[in-house]
Amino acid sequence: MIKCKDVPEQASDYLDGELTFRKRIALRFHLLICHSCRTYVQQIRNTIKTVKVLQPKEKNALDTCPLIKKFRELTKKQD
Ligand SMILES: [Zn+2]
Repeated sequence: MIKCKDVPEQASDYLDGELTFRKRIALRFHLLICHSCRTYVQQIRNTIKTVKVLQPKEKNALDTCPLIKKFRELTKKQD
């Protein structure tokens, strides 16, 4: 039987679909009976959705050239 203290460590695996069948059923059962943990898991799910929406639109998320250019412009003005 899963307890509330077990939920945080299993929640992300649950949302990623990486829990074993047995653990997933146990967690779902706990979420049915525990409003607090249900809210907690829902908040994580919403956070993941929000982060996916807010991801940068550039082809390469690690492309820092525009940032470097802007930084150089700003530091030039201070000279
Ligand atoms: Zn709980």
